[in-house]
Amino acid sequence: MMNTEEGEEKALTIYFIPYLAPGHMIPLCDIATLFALRRQNVTIITTPSNAQILGKSIPLNQHLRIHTVPFPSQAVGLPDGVEPLFTTTDLDNLTKIYRAATLLRPTIQHFVEQHPPDCIVADFMYPWVHELANKLQIPRLAFNGFSLFAICAMESVKAHSLYESASFVIPHLPHSIAMNAAPPKQLSKLLEALLETVFKSNGILVNNFAELDGEEYIEHYEKTTCHKAWHLGPASLIRRTIQEKAERGEESVVSVHECLSWLNSKQDNSVVYICFGSQCHFSDKQLYEIACGIEASSHEFIWVVPEKKRTENDNEEEKEKWLPKGFEERIIGKKKAMIIKGWAPQVMILSHTAVGAFMTHCGWNSTVEAVSAGVPMITWPMHGEQFYNEKLITQVHGIGVEVGATEWSTTGIGEREKVVWRDNIEKVVKRLMDSGDEAEKIRQHAREFGEKAKHAIKEGGSSHSNLTAVVNYLKRLRDNKPLI
Ligand code: UDP
Repeated sequence: MMNTEEGEEKALTIYFIPYLAPGHMIPLCDIATLFALRRQNVTIITTPSNAQILGKSIPLNQHLRIHTVPFPSQAVGLPDGVEPLFTTTDLDNLTKIYRAATLLRPTIQHFVEQHPPDCIVADFMYPWVHELANKLQIPRLAFNGFSLFAICAMESVKAHSLYESASFVIPHLPHSIAMNAAPPKQLSKLLEALLETVFKSNGILVNNFAELDGEEYIEHYEKTTCHKAWHLGPASLIRRTIQEKAERGEESVVSVHECLSWLNSKQDNSVVYICFGSQCHFSDKQLYEIACGIEASSHEFIWVVPEKKRTENDNEEEKEKWLPKGFEERIIGKKKAMIIKGWAPQVMILSHTAVGAFMTHCGWNSTVEAVSAGVPMITWPMHGEQFYNEKLITQVHGIGVEVGATEWSTTGIGEREKVVWRDNIEKVVKRLMDSGDEAEKIRQHAREFGEKAKHAIKEGGSSHSNLTAVVNYLKRLRDNKPLI
């Protein structure tokens, strides 16, 4: 038998357990595919509706299979099919999905115990996998979809109890990072507790490339947490063709053809792509301000607006009351913009040369997808660890500009108190999209990072070597060989 690139003969058997939210599931399944492409035997464990989405969206590979476990819809009172977190905009249903996810434990545990793998890679939202891996005496790798930079920032905020401080410099990081929003205590404590189990794992897999977090943050992480991190991304770059990019995640509500022909009719770097991830829902008032601000900037745009669940009694005007009067005729009718109501083929759009800026909520996947495409960002963080990601983009790497958001919510759902006004939106879009020295410098940095991202996953690149290293590490553990 021939030796594989990883230097050992027998392939590993690895189980991946992704969480049910698109922002967690999409990157972890892409990472699972990376292992399968190295001929390791990979099983993704998920629920039926998520398996259906994955079946259509992950590239076919003989080393990759999906194992489904039933979703406890009835136990939590959810209608059938409401499994991925993207399917709901309602806080009550969201809570039920979270509860259902915790009820998956016995079924997944039973399957894993019956057919033990060489390693489990699980999302940190399933902290119980720690006990399971210990019981089976197998290694566990953690995943949470964060950048290492964000984890370093969170650990520092925790060490200095900076919750609810509206304006502060994060202590003891390699750079002086100035924050302008207060980390909510309840959310921070929840994430910290989950991170505690991450630190007990054999290591964390990061959907990023070493150059974007930077050597200084990798060293800082390993020194302060005594924990190992492997940067394996950007995982979205495994999708090379337009079709593969378009099929990532949920089914798009717009056709590839329609989207591409609109983009093809535009000049390079002339379009602003606006999307706030899979879970952010704005008030009509905020949507109205975005519409006014972007129109006033005079730049063309694609705007993804998540479909709101309206009642049958809503009349047409109610449904679209966030659109300014005459907007349809002035903007959409004249093909100056596309509004996508529902899931958009984001990776495909970002990789088009017409896209010159990405207005983003700084979810880590969106961030790393923009970086991979060399697209500068207009940052508008809202919840989770997004405010830290913003600072990596703007203060550390200079590949984006801030819209000036300061309200750090506990979730992406629900009304926000502070509105970002049209003037701010207009100004920030012009700052990046009108030509000028500052904009050109930011665009140049973004382009350079795009090149670095593409290099990272190629043979000889940092993520490519890290994947070899982690596979070797797991094989040595399995074969009881000394770790190098
Ligand atoms: N996404 C997409 N189309 C959409 C909305 C989101 O393809 O209309 C994808 C996006 O490319 C990214 C993920 O969904 O991979 C969202 O993850 P992110 O971490 O950016 O934000 P979250 O949704 O977790 O807040």
